[in-house]
Amino acid sequence: MIVMKFGGTSVEDSAAVRRLIEIVRSKLDEKPIIVVSALSKVTHSLYQIADYASRGDFESADRLLSEIKERHEKMSRELISNDKRRLDLCVGKIGEQIAGLRDIIKVISILAELSDRSLAKIVSHGELLSSFIIFHALNESGIRCAYADARECIITDNQYLKGEPDLNLIKERVPKYINEQFADNETLIIQGFIASSIDGINTTLGRGGSDYSASLIGLAMGAREIEIWTDVDGIHTADPGRVANTRSISLLSFEEAAEMAYFGAKVLHPSTIQPAIEKNIPVRVLNSRKPEHNGTLILHRDLIKEDGIKAISFKENIIVVNVFSTKMLNYFGFLNRLFEVFNKHKVSVDLISTSEVNVSLTIDSDAGLQSIIEELSQFSEVNVERNMSQISVVGSNLKNIKGVCKRVFGSLGDYQIYMISQGASDVNISFVVGRENLTSVLRILHNEFFNE
Ligand code: ASP
Ligand code: MG
Repeated sequence: MIVMKFGGTSVEDSAAVRRLIEIVRSKLDEKPIIVVSALSKVTHSLYQIADYASRGDFESADRLLSEIKERHEKMSRELISNDKRRLDLCVGKIGEQIAGLRDIIKVISILAELSDRSLAKIVSHGELLSSFIIFHALNESGIRCAYADARECIITDNQYLKGEPDLNLIKERVPKYINEQFADNETLIIQGFIASSIDGINTTLGRGGSDYSASLIGLAMGAREIEIWTDVDGIHTADPGRVANTRSISLLSFEEAAEMAYFGAKVLHPSTIQPAIEKNIPVRVLNSRKPEHNGTLILHRDLIKEDGIKAISFKENIIVVNVFSTKMLNYFGFLNRLFEVFNKHKVSVDLISTSEVNVSLTIDSDAGLQSIIEELSQFSEVNVERNMSQISVVGSNLKNIKGVCKRVFGSLGDYQIYMISQGASDVNISFVVGRENLTSVLRILHNEFFNE
């Protein structure tokens, strides 16, 4: 059994779905479980619809909703052209889903009030619609495909918009439910991103969460491999949108991939690798426009011989928080106290670096920051630097490579560096530069390490 996850651009229109169908057809002997995202940009539009509704603007919300309806109907007509009964069924179901959503939006517009719980329900419609059409398209093409509803088996806590998966319940429910639905079909389709709380309320795994769905299902099913189908040839040495001459990386370790996903590479959702590590399941990132390309294979580090620098990733917009305290001299418990403040406000810290009297750390959003500053100020001095970018040089065994820091920082010449962090994990060297210098610094570094 394998899991094949197709992202938004890999299901964006009927041509993309036809490619998906042929890719799946070539793997039927692997008993694939297909995980799909919403059609590209639909989740974003659903968020926008909810936003209009929350401001009482039903008209704008409804206009966008009609566009979504039309796009899905058109796609159904293009994909299901032989079987009139099937097409009617599919279009009928789309109409029902949209009508239900319209009712919700109407109510929210009247009240001009939107809860996270309602928002999660609204944005889940993208995957519900895409999975339903693709399910019919697969069957129409002669592939016996079963349909499953992720809310029956992917269970989270009740943080509706970014639910924390309940691994025990998922491991229990997924195999039971999926095997039941799969029955004697050749494949099964299920939605990414959407889930349910223990009491059956619709939740999601957060933006970009379909990758995470795929790896959770892979873990629970004990899949042989998890394939993430995207629109690029795997993970690149740097963001091809910013840096010229990047290349696809053929092999990465779980740690390197996790580090890259967490530190900015947009190809994978940061949590994707964790479930794969637990059962040592290989993850492959592939291009649905070029299925013959090998993409990037992500494996346990023991299986990878090559050390060295694999990629340069970044987070464009981060905030550096500098905390100063003379009380830190010979004082234990200070860091504990400091992190308790971040913990209390549920803000996760990316990089830290400390000296005897100063701690610098980076965070990637403003949420909760004001309260954090106020609380930290009770026992230290705090200043905040905005418009910063974080760059990570990612690879294996970095600390054993001679001269690597010299090359990283030597190549940067006079660019100001605000903070440096290299942990014992020896998987990354990270530092912070001004946002205005991000692209130039990325290019210089990529040139230094990959254009030899
Ligand atoms: N459709 C969701 C999003 O755009 C989940 C995903 O595509 O991974 O965030
Ligand atoms: Mg994605």
